[in-house]
Amino acid sequence: MSDELTTEQREIVAAVRDFVDRDVIPVASELEHADEYPTALVETMREMGLFGATIPEEYGGLGLGVDTYALIVLELSRGWPTLSGVMNGSFMAATMIRLHGTDEQRSRILPKLASMELRAAFSMTEPHAGSDVQAIRTVATRDGDDYVISGQKMWVTNGWRAGIVMLLAKTDPSAVPAHTGMTGFIVEKEPETSPPGLQIPMPGLPKLGYKGVESTELVFDGFRTPASSVLGGEEGVGKGFKYFMSGIEMGRVNVAARGAGVARAALDDAISYAREREAFGKPIARHQAVQLMIAKMATRAEAARLLTIQAARKKASGERADLEAGMAKYFATEAAQENALDCMRIHGGYGYSLEYRPERYYRDAPLLLIGEGSNEIQQLIIARRLLERAEA
Ligand SMILES: Cc1cc2nc3c(=O)[nH]c(=O)nc-3n(C[C@H](O)[C@H](O)[C@H](O)COP(=O)(O)OP(=O)(O)OC[C@H]3O[C@@H](n4cnc5c(N)ncnc54)[C@H](O)[C@@H]3O)c2cc1C
Repeated sequence: MSDELTTEQREIVAAVRDFVDRDVIPVASELEHADEYPTALVETMREMGLFGATIPEEYGGLGLGVDTYALIVLELSRGWPTLSGVMNGSFMAATMIRLHGTDEQRSRILPKLASMELRAAFSMTEPHAGSDVQAIRTVATRDGDDYVISGQKMWVTNGWRAGIVMLLAKTDPSAVPAHTGMTGFIVEKEPETSPPGLQIPMPGLPKLGYKGVESTELVFDGFRTPASSVLGGEEGVGKGFKYFMSGIEMGRVNVAARGAGVARAALDDAISYAREREAFGKPIARHQAVQLMIAKMATRAEAARLLTIQAARKKASGERADLEAGMAKYFATEAAQENALDCMRIHGGYGYSLEYRPERYYRDAPLLLIGEGSNEIQQLIIARRLLERAEA
């Protein structure tokens, strides 16, 4: 596979890399330990136009392809994966509205996402159902010009600060198969408040890592949203599952890029520490056992990056990309986890200290194994797709 970047891609990635080296890496661990929302960094990302990266220029975005977006996410995650988490809701919402929204939804909402006037969240998971999406219980019932929503959502990243929530609910809970009774909604709400009929308990759900951005519950109890908020309008009723699966496939490329970024960060730190730290009269980088670890880490990081770019390009071409996205997500996130541990090993006791970065990689990496479809589910998708091909 060709790894050649266009001049535009190279310039954008270089600008994000500079931002990460200059502004993000020096403050990320401190913000992370304080679980503080990175307001200043997010503002710079907004000024750079990153929230509108994939939104077409006619709606005020940069109009970049998913492959360039993946490279941006990789760079941000090299600094701190939370930054790509803050951006991901907007990316998923913009993708779904662009692909499946009505003209009115596109022209009204996309410019606000591009300028970050609106932040977005993506809400599918419930307390009893994550992987098994068709088992969700949140119900939206038509009542005149509105839908009335009741049910509980879980783990909604950006749930408090978001001005729109892409919400999956059942409009026909008795439908067989269940996915034909599921509908997507663009729920609009005032950020940082609990509107009537919707409780958002703050300060969110406590987490091992992925700090600095809130992950919340959304408790709907008779929340009213206009019928015009159905993603895709009247025609979108019953198509929510399909629409959300297309969104999540994009999300998988994004999580793969985060994995590649963490794998790279862990490698960079390991190399620089191994060159400085001495044991038995020489830098530990001169001990072969350490070199073997560095070689494995570098190979994983590079393979993660290439698989991510391949998946992003396939997705950008508009072709079916579940196999490539699944492989990239699976491999890159396992690479992040393994590199985080090896980085810690190379740092010895300091790797376990809160003063050094490996502990942060070590806490951030596991989420990537679980989110946007667990790695067990990715393996099922990969195998299913290969077997389908073999049978065809
Ligand atoms: C910090 C954080 C942020 C998140 N942000 C969001 C968000 O913004 N929006 C959102 O909608 N969700 C979000 N999630 C939820 C996340 O997507 C789910 O946790 C994930 O999909 C897994 O679902 P689950 O937790 O219910 O696990 P389960 O589905 O209960 O899975 C538990 C275990 O069983 C395995 N398993 C399940 N089914 C199978 C099967 N068929 N075959 C083999 N193994 C299987 C899984 O791989 C896993 O190991 C977030 C989660 C976290 C922790």
